[in-house]
Amino acid sequence: MAFDLQLSNVGKVFDNGTAAVIDFNLDVNKGEFIAFLGPSGCGKTTTLRMIAGFEDISSGDISIRGRRINDLLPEQRPTSMIFQNYALFPHMTVRDNIGFGLDVKGMAPAERDAKVSRMLETLGLTDIASQRPDRLSGGQRQRIALARSLVVEPDILLLDEPLGALDANLRKSIQNELKLLQRSLGITFVFVTHAQSEALALSDRIVVMNQGRIEQISAPYELYTRPKSLFVAQFIGRNTLIPGTVRLSDGKNVTMDTPYGALMGTAQAGVAVKQKAHLILPAESIDLLPAKTSKVEITKTYGTCSIPVKVGRIQKIGHIVQMDVDLGEGRSIGLEGHADKYGGRFATGDEAFIAWKKDGATVIVE
Ligand code: ATP
Repeated sequence: MAFDLQLSNVGKVFDNGTAAVIDFNLDVNKGEFIAFLGPSGCGKTTTLRMIAGFEDISSGDISIRGRRINDLLPEQRPTSMIFQNYALFPHMTVRDNIGFGLDVKGMAPAERDAKVSRMLETLGLTDIASQRPDRLSGGQRQRIALARSLVVEPDILLLDEPLGALDANLRKSIQNELKLLQRSLGITFVFVTHAQSEALALSDRIVVMNQGRIEQISAPYELYTRPKSLFVAQFIGRNTLIPGTVRLSDGKNVTMDTPYGALMGTAQAGVAVKQKAHLILPAESIDLLPAKTSKVEITKTYGTCSIPVKVGRIQKIGHIVQMDVDLGEGRSIGLEGHADKYGGRFATGDEAFIAWKKDGATVIVE
């Protein structure tokens, strides 16, 4: 069966010579929630606008359900787009804003009204249907924009930082609503964000972009725990990067020589002896052990995966303890855990060990 959305070798070079998107390849299944994530200027919005038809494609092809759409006008494409500022019409009622796309299509009034009423109900907007959007809250306006995009029954909904204008609390609750709505409608969503937590919470898969190119496409957990490039390791999660040289490798299990001695992790791609590499250590993989823990005990549980450290600043925020540990060589790690895990066991200035299970650390070659 054809993919819902397919981008093949898509590129965009603006008239001023800026290569905003380079060789972008992505296959999206029906009903998937995809996020484009990356730093400002990496090409997320340009890619979304090429799918919507607001931006010409310089090279490659975009298809929706097997049909090439490169040359279709935005209104001819089975897509709807929600903008960060929602772009609602201030002089129209909520009901008319939502019905606008159906009016453009020339739908008969009775059918239009029935569809709009259903959408008002789905998004909890019935009570404010006759109000104007400029008197409503950010959350309500966001819902109206969503209703207006969904009522035309697009194959694919494109969302450009749709939660960017909302405060943190509202953002969280709308995030949940958005996810539930997407699941119940089964529509494919493509979502642009530079908020990592949003992408991790909402998406089935995340496309991480950097300077116009795709760095990695993975499900959130995999992206978080198994970065494939140094850029992703630094951009996602709370990783410590330890440089070194590969001493031993069986293709998966890797021992590196590092400033902290021999350390182990696992690699996905082939890693060769003597290659320069980084050990990527997620904060979540790290256990903190008191100095009195015996070397034998550490080796038995963790193998060649520990470093002596000194405990730095400790801060207690409610039931959470945040702690800095100093590895030497100018490197420190911020750890965070429940008070039960750390509480009372460590004080600033204590010697300790950090340790991890080999599978909890990734080796990436340079
Ligand atoms: P942000 O998160 O800041 O919105 P983004 O990842 O969405 O960033 P784009 O807006 O897609 O990035 O921009 C990608 C690159 O293309 C940037 O270097 C940007 O300056 C450039 N660019 C965007 N629009 C144009 C344009 N109309 N003409 C020339 N260059 C452009």
